[in-house]
Amino acid sequence: MGEMHFTILTIFPELFAPFWSHGMIGRAKKSGTIGAETIQIRDFTADRHRSTDDRPYGGGSGMVMTPEPLAAAIRQAQARSPHATTVLLSPQGRRFDQQLAVELHHRGRDMILVCGRYEGVDDRICGQFVDEEISVGDFVLTGGELAAMVIIDAVCRLIPGVLGAADAADKDSFASGLLEHPQFTRPRDFEGDRVPDILLSGNHAAVDRWRLEQSLMRTLLQRPDLLDERRLSGSETEILEKWRGRIDAILDSAGER
Ligand code: SAM
Repeated sequence: MGEMHFTILTIFPELFAPFWSHGMIGRAKKSGTIGAETIQIRDFTADRHRSTDDRPYGGGSGMVMTPEPLAAAIRQAQARSPHATTVLLSPQGRRFDQQLAVELHHRGRDMILVCGRYEGVDDRICGQFVDEEISVGDFVLTGGELAAMVIIDAVCRLIPGVLGAADAADKDSFASGLLEHPQFTRPRDFEGDRVPDILLSGNHAAVDRWRLEQSLMRTLLQRPDLLDERRLSGSETEILEKWRGRIDAILDSAGER
């Protein structure tokens, strides 16, 4: 078994085949750093049509996933992975973000991910059979499979050995509470747009300082809400004050204030 094992319960297991076989996730699975298994919920149905849904009590449009096959599939997954966290993907759950990805990784527990379809799952599955509900955002998908992939992808890239460079995940956007600085690679001149000279200077301290400035400036312009939640160091505050002053001056001179 890998360092972290993921079991996905779905009526569309074939959607996961390309996910498990490509890129960093594919490599991590091949090397045994992570383990993965999909369980077909239909295998736990008792009727000839292998149906997993039925009409909602109380009326209304759409179908609801019936509890029996889901419960049987969850019980089997939990028996195989007794210490796993069982997650139901649901737009009504806790909103997924980098902090939750880190939390799930730190827990170090295997994960069982239950993917709903149709109008969702019978509510009796929610409390009793799952530890938590997670949403990948305030929008509604047709099924939990893409949401499960989003969570697995974000959690797996935190596992040592999944990414190439040991520290790559620490420097990403959100890891430090800020958006990441811009990145450039060859060519130096792309259609007249040149890579900033400082990145070619070989002066590591100056490059670090420039990257921090860019990171703070991007966060200030694109996601100022992140700055409210983050405690800033003295030099970060100084940089931000400088940028705030410049932005104020530009807005003043444009007559926008
Ligand atoms: N009727 C449900 C509601 O309003 O809460 C939505 C059901 S949705 C069409 C079908 C399934 O897709 C859900 O059971 C869930 O597994 C998955 N899903 C949809 N949106 C999601 C989201 N934002 N995050 C996680 N899972 C989602």
